[in-house]
Amino acid sequence: MTENIFPNRDRFLDRSAKEKLLNQQGLVVWFTGLSASGKSTLAIAVERKLFAEDLLTQVLDGDKIRNGLNKNLGFTEEDRIENIRRIAEVGKLFSDCGVVAISAFISPTHAIRTMARNIIGSDNFFEIYLSTSLEVCEQRDPKGLYKKARSGIISDFTGISAPYEAPADANLVIDTNKYSVEEATELIFKEVITRVRK
Ligand code: ADP
Repeated sequence: MTENIFPNRDRFLDRSAKEKLLNQQGLVVWFTGLSASGKSTLAIAVERKLFAEDLLTQVLDGDKIRNGLNKNLGFTEEDRIENIRRIAEVGKLFSDCGVVAISAFISPTHAIRTMARNIIGSDNFFEIYLSTSLEVCEQRDPKGLYKKARSGIISDFTGISAPYEAPADANLVIDTNKYSVEEATELIFKEVITRVRK
């Protein structure tokens, strides 16, 4: 009798009605890449560009999520998976509401990204791999995290003491050492707008 456990399921207003209201299509733009590869910078810049075109967006990034929804999570393997699982579920809620969610998390492994893709659904999942090299990221080191990782203050740091598995099937790959923030933003914007504009 499992069908009676969720009696309201068929009565929820459906996604297309909300997309019609917003005059856009929901999507989750999923950035992946090393720390300092440019995920937050580009998420914020792409959001501003989409917003300027009257599209409703929501950036999901570490500062917002780790200080709020996921503040009870640490950095054990289990907690890292749970961190991404919740982010994917939140992204799905936004895209089901017609909003363009933009997530900016390292999401370092194939398994973790596959989980996110499965939660969100392939059709709603636009994966952008920032392929910026470790050397460049480490040189940028805007938060001093690589320095701390190298000196052992931070353990299990992606790229230094924990692996990063590059995606083989990303929708878009950008090396942010080869493009300026403006150029990279434009490349991403062009791809996203064709998918979300009604
Ligand atoms: P992440 O969110 O991946 O950890 P951040 O966006 O926080 O990365 O940091 C990236 C750093 O690299 C910023 O200081 C940013 O100004 C710099 N940067 C230089 N060139 C680019 C570029 N083309 N795209 C994105 N960031 C860039």
